[in-house]
Amino acid sequence: MNKRNKMNKKIVLSVIDLKKIYDLGEVKVNALNGVTFDILRNKITTIIGPSGSGKSTLLHLLGFLDKPTSGKIFLDDKDVSKLNEEKLADLRNKKIGFIFQFFNLYPMFNAVENVELPLSISHVDEKERRKKALELLKLVGLEERAYHFPKQLSGGEQQRVAIARALANNPSIIMADEPTGNLDTQTSHEIMELLVKLKEHTTVIIITHDLGLTKHSDKIIKIVDGKISEMK
Ligand code: ADP
Ligand code: MG
Repeated sequence: MNKRNKMNKKIVLSVIDLKKIYDLGEVKVNALNGVTFDILRNKITTIIGPSGSGKSTLLHLLGFLDKPTSGKIFLDDKDVSKLNEEKLADLRNKKIGFIFQFFNLYPMFNAVENVELPLSISHVDEKERRKKALELLKLVGLEERAYHFPKQLSGGEQQRVAIARALANNPSIIMADEPTGNLDTQTSHEIMELLVKLKEHTTVIIITHDLGLTKHSDKIIKIVDGKISEMK
């Protein structure tokens, strides 16, 4: 048993000296310059830092949307750095739920149909799918809006639908890139409180530039110029 395997089960994701260089031919952008940290299970970790500091780049790597230039990523103690595209896509679908600033709901589908989408992709049958999607809408406090279309919902309500959708496949980790960036202060706090509630079910990683929202988190990682400048 190596040293990592002996680490307790509290760590869901672990990154070691992660670097990302975007190679644009003439120019190379050092977006991440070697970051090392752990993400604790069933906790909320908030990533903060100025614009352009590498936060989204980091979240893309943690969510297997992109590959690091160097460094290692462990998911549940398994080294995933060497996996090919197909295996990474599979991990992404099974383990990660994403939430975005602009909600990214499908406008031609109503709330419950939007939540059902990942379940259709996972071949859950129609009846089961509807049942699960309605349960998730209830969890996010939106059971009465199940048949509303996105344009008939407020920003906060749309983000709740997106959160329900992110939970559909029972992900190990929910990743949110500026989930409150398009919401007013009151609604932002409501969404953060909802994300806190989700800790029972999953691990949550949130990028925000709103320092007022960090009070909801268990761990704060500050990134400046692609490096960790503070962690608490
Ligand atoms: P943040 O989310 O903190 O604002 P990003 O991770 O989006 O920062 O960007 C970090 C740096 O990497 C920035 O200088 C940005 O311009 C650059 N960058 C981000 N994505 C790409 C890309 N796909 N190609 C080239 N450069 C990129
Ligand atoms: Mg960003």
